[in-house]
Amino acid sequence: MTPDACFNREIETLDRDRLDEVIDERVRYTVRYAEEHSPFYRSWFRTHGIDFGSIRTHEDLLRLPVISGSTIRSHQPPVTSEFGFLSTPWEQVFTIHETSGTSGTPKAFFLTWQDWERFAEKYARIFVSQGFGPGDRVVVCASYGMNVGANTMTLAARNVGMAIIPEGTCTFPSRVITSFRPTGIVGSVFKLLNLARRLETEGIDPRTSGIRQLVVGGESFAPESRAYLAEVWDCPVHNTYGSTEGTMCGECDRHTGLHVPEDLVHLDLYDPALQAFVPEEEYGRIVLTTLIPPGGHCGMLFLNCDNEDTTVILSREPCACGRTHLRIMNPQREAESFRAGGAFLNRVDVERGVFQRENMEYLTGEFEAFLHDGDTVASTDLRVTVECRDPAQVDRDGTADRFVRGFIGNNPFLRAAHDGGLLTFSFTFAAPGTLEHQKVKGRPKRIVDQRTGAGTSR
Ligand SMILES: [Zn+2]
Repeated sequence: MTPDACFNREIETLDRDRLDEVIDERVRYTVRYAEEHSPFYRSWFRTHGIDFGSIRTHEDLLRLPVISGSTIRSHQPPVTSEFGFLSTPWEQVFTIHETSGTSGTPKAFFLTWQDWERFAEKYARIFVSQGFGPGDRVVVCASYGMNVGANTMTLAARNVGMAIIPEGTCTFPSRVITSFRPTGIVGSVFKLLNLARRLETEGIDPRTSGIRQLVVGGESFAPESRAYLAEVWDCPVHNTYGSTEGTMCGECDRHTGLHVPEDLVHLDLYDPALQAFVPEEEYGRIVLTTLIPPGGHCGMLFLNCDNEDTTVILSREPCACGRTHLRIMNPQREAESFRAGGAFLNRVDVERGVFQRENMEYLTGEFEAFLHDGDTVASTDLRVTVECRDPAQVDRDGTADRFVRGFIGNNPFLRAAHDGGLLTFSFTFAAPGTLEHQKVKGRPKRIVDQRTGAGTSR
């Protein structure tokens, strides 16, 4: 049997004991680096009475407090005069970034060229694990600019030996497809569905366009929407997950979870109170720690940084692809999770309801959902607006039934909330282009909590 291609076989297939040794060695180096180079961590160790030399293994990280985005914002201008997290001399800073924060001042990030090289290595591993290689031509529809994702993929392509067409959006002219015959596209589920629809109206069949695979990332999605996208393009759809903090996890072509590059970033899962690790196979908040290879440097590092997403560790066993790095479920955004009727629901649950296969005969896949106070105290009405190909020709009852079945799925809490009347549904069937989020610029808000009553806390 020929082993699967790897970008960095030695590190990607290290056995678990050896990999843990690498991680622990890098935890020690990174903590020491923090003490020596990061003004924030130096005083944070003093404030919390932490002897940085006592942090020897990844388990020891549990003894350190968890920091959040607000910690970063409160240690940068205008709150403080200096950037407390900047952990390298200005001469080594290569680029400066700001995250598009949903609240308050954006967080500042500083990257050295070494950071870029490590980020690019992570994406190069992902691309190779998905079957990309020399000769591939990939359109990147993720936006260039302050986000690191698109630039990192472009840099990774140089390592992989493939060509990038850096469009930055999915609104490029169709001649890009017909002239350059790209073999892959990176984008979001919704943008890639829109693109397919646009190509079809121009007489180009996405299934025979030469695209051999799609890479989606940037937000979580339901398996149903991935399956539909794969059907529309007639090719595999691979998942990636990245953040400016340097996570960058990716699915290999086996689609059995996203591999975490464990030698370069350490991921722990915490309980909602951020006090303890959750047991294996349980949902938890992602808490990240940068891992710097001994001798390396870093523009901005994090020890125990809550990135406000949740996931489950699927396996620490070697994958069928030969890689040993652990695999996680597609992370979900905590900001898109809500309590209703004693259950948690996420935008992804709504997406699962929308993308039931029969619904897609009538719907485009675009939707938005609003949580409203229900008819009774403590009940919630989920008002879902779905974009229809033609609102005059929709099987409305069937679509609503299938939505509810798909939304509840196998979740006993959502089922109990629905059966108990604490979670009700109403539907609006909208014409193309008339959703609220389609009228405003920026990241679409597909789920919004507009409740005022008791339902919000139950
Ligand atoms: Zn794998």
